[in-house]
Amino acid sequence: SRFLSGSSDSRRLAGKVAVITGAASGIGKATAAEFVRNGARVVLADVQDELGRAAAADLGGTDTACYTRCDVTDEAQVAAAVDLAVARHGRLDIMFNNAGITGGSYAAAPIESLDMADFDRVMAVNLRGVAAGIKHAARAMAPRGQGCILCTSSTAGALAGSGPHAYSVSKTAVVGMVRSAAAELAARGVRVNAISPYAIATSMGARAVREMLGLPPRNAGDEEEEELVRRVFEEDFNEMGGGVVLRAEDVARAAVFLASDDARYITGHNLMVDGGFSVA
Ligand code: NAD
Repeated sequence: SRFLSGSSDSRRLAGKVAVITGAASGIGKATAAEFVRNGARVVLADVQDELGRAAAADLGGTDTACYTRCDVTDEAQVAAAVDLAVARHGRLDIMFNNAGITGGSYAAAPIESLDMADFDRVMAVNLRGVAAGIKHAARAMAPRGQGCILCTSSTAGALAGSGPHAYSVSKTAVVGMVRSAAAELAARGVRVNAISPYAIATSMGARAVREMLGLPPRNAGDEEEEELVRRVFEEDFNEMGGGVVLRAEDVARAAVFLASDDARYITGHNLMVDGGFSVA
């Protein structure tokens, strides 16, 4: 039956057009793949051109997936990424404001040593970049009376003390920004939601774990170290039980749901993808 085969349900974003920031690696890259698998056309936006182009190329021809350079700290580049999607595909249905940085160090540091320049850099990407993404997505979406905006927060935004100060507060503020925009945009047909993952072994996650363990940034080829980082994730960190380990793909699938019409009445929400970490 069609229910068993799932064939009619497998393309939940058929015909939709998406922009994803931070799409050259990690969660953004996994989400671009999951969006394409579900029938969407995707503009991958990032500052890592080589990785971004390769990720887009892996997803098929330029009609399905293309890469554009977009530093989210520069509003004009965010506007241009939105305009590119509209020029190429006629409209924008999904904006995933996912680009983020942890800042200087993930290792616990006393607030007396808070680096204000680092604070500004983290806020410029994680909060201001998200605000610009919401602004320009709304510009494209609200006149059509439809659209879905997603923003990546973090369990570090919900649980004080589980990340560096600047990172933590930037992720708390993302949820505030989402709620503020959702309150306005609901009446104009545009939904705005946050997704909060727990620790995932992306390049960001691995770097954070290396810092916490006091390992050098990356000792390429040191298999013992790679294994140690993997074990920290899979055993100490994000194993939920029953062998379930959080992967970027789990966040991607949550994003597909929120972006799909199945979630048409869900807005202003912060969907935790954390195996219960934040409620324990
Ligand atoms: P990642 O480092 O693999 O990917 C982040 C991407 O964002 C990179 O490709 C990077 O080039 C890009 N980026 C950085 N600054 C940018 C800028 N100014 N403009 C455009 N792109 C920029 O890490 P990830 O884990 O996939 O992170 C994605 C999001 O998930 C981030 O917002 C992060 O804070 C959040 N997050 C990650 C974890 C985790 O454990 N990995 C947990 C919770 C939340």
